[in-house]
Amino acid sequence: MTVKALLIDGYVDEPACLGVPPYISPYIRTIAGVLEEHHLSCTYLTIDQIRGDPSLGVLVRNAPLVVMVAGTTVPGAYLGGSPATLTDIRQIGHLCRGGRSALCGPVTFGYAGAGGKHAVPLEGTGFSAVLAGPPAEAVDAWVRGDEGVSRQDYTLEDRWAVLGGHVIRQHPSYPYVICELETARGCARSVTGGCSFCTEPFYGPPVYRGTAGIAAEVAALSSHGALHFRLGRQPDLLAYRSGPGETPRPDPGALEELFSGIRQAAPGLKTLPIDNINPGTIARFEDEAREALAVIVTGHTPGDVAAFGMETADPEVIRANNLKASPDEVFRAIEVVNEVGAQRRDNVPDLLPGLNFVCGLAGETLSTYDKNEDFLARVLAAGLLVRRVNIRQLMPFPGTRAFSDNTLRRHEKRFLRFKTTVRERFDHPMLEKVFPPGTVLRDVITEVTGSTSFGRQMGSYPILVGFPLLMVKLTVCDALVAGYGSRSLTALPCPVPVNTLPVAALGWIPGVGKKKAGLIAAKRPFSNRSELESLTGPLPASVPFTFS
Ligand code: SF4
Repeated sequence: MTVKALLIDGYVDEPACLGVPPYISPYIRTIAGVLEEHHLSCTYLTIDQIRGDPSLGVLVRNAPLVVMVAGTTVPGAYLGGSPATLTDIRQIGHLCRGGRSALCGPVTFGYAGAGGKHAVPLEGTGFSAVLAGPPAEAVDAWVRGDEGVSRQDYTLEDRWAVLGGHVIRQHPSYPYVICELETARGCARSVTGGCSFCTEPFYGPPVYRGTAGIAAEVAALSSHGALHFRLGRQPDLLAYRSGPGETPRPDPGALEELFSGIRQAAPGLKTLPIDNINPGTIARFEDEAREALAVIVTGHTPGDVAAFGMETADPEVIRANNLKASPDEVFRAIEVVNEVGAQRRDNVPDLLPGLNFVCGLAGETLSTYDKNEDFLARVLAAGLLVRRVNIRQLMPFPGTRAFSDNTLRRHEKRFLRFKTTVRERFDHPMLEKVFPPGTVLRDVITEVTGSTSFGRQMGSYPILVGFPLLMVKLTVCDALVAGYGSRSLTALPCPVPVNTLPVAALGWIPGVGKKKAGLIAAKRPFSNRSELESLTGPLPASVPFTFS
């Protein structure tokens, strides 16, 4: 194969952007557009493909031009792929002997392998260039041989996004890829320095992308078969095209334009969730925020999560790290999102809040963890719904205040106890409320196979579903909720294929259990429900079966 340019996806995860499969980041698509514009139609490979097939090393070695995008500036746990490690990056950099090579993306802020570890500056990568700044602009300047100036608008990115949309067809999970859409970069809170740990202020003051450019990109992606999108590359969707200041007043009209533009550009889309919402925006501008959330609920796809960067419930830690909202403000924001979004559509709540905690911040003491637990107990006692709680350890980056001012490793045991307490006392009962027994989740896609196979719906923070049986990878099926882990569900394919399920799985059918499972296995096949129930007794009417 003759390759003009090789684009390697080492995956990205930032406070305001996700590009780990099934997500594909906007950086990959706009860089593909840049290369296209320079008549360098690219071959796209993911880091997982390169790790899994040593023969691809030849392609890397011989490519005349290689661009690699990588960098996680928030810690995460991933099912769909493993972001490039520093070792991966160096190995690829040193392999690129055939031509020019560049490394770009958030990894240029530094590299940290996991939460709790300080990021280290990039050295000895082997790439001929390490390109800081917005990745597509940086690659364009590098290919042209210019210095490059960061622009304060999206004129170029809008064009490149359309030109590079074709690259999604080369993604190994295509068509099951979620296109992370960029609506803004930079954070409004950077006027006061931003949150102490965050890398988003490195992108400068906020720049909002116009709806026409986003809609044109969605139309192009749709023409290449994209069905799944997420409005994820921005720090606070409620601030979209809103006014100046640290916490801009939401503009529901701008959001309405955004959603209708996207819907018109891709009328057949299947997935359109959101990501970050600043709870402080909701608490400070409740009426406008309520209206804006209603626009989101009308335009998105259900099962959605408004991710709140709460970080802590300790006022002292909030003050010491310039965080965005007080515990009472976050609580009020949880109430408002529940009021607007907790109704069910397609069997799942339309829009629920998700909470992010960061541990190891400056000012943290042992009592911080008591306050965090008390806050969650208050949410539970109030009968509010929360889709998920993320608990992470600080991953400090050079240039952020948290790099030198933090409490990492001081409260290790209490941190671990906090996680266990939340998993046992909060997550478990909350999962039963959000996904009651017998809930049918539509279109779950298996990503990991084995005696228990794991899958998820396409969406923002989809719940992990474990099927107690061996399934083929990328099987798409509905899932009947039958049990609960701390952060996952046990489910059966729906309708339940009673004649073919393994015995262990039969025991998960609601109303069956282990003893009757053995009986069913001995007496099958059954040709209809009444035959089955003559053996088991009446089974819940809500459980559908198939007898093929
Ligand atoms: S609100 Fe804080 S965490 Fe969120 S993007 Fe801005 S600076 Fe980062």
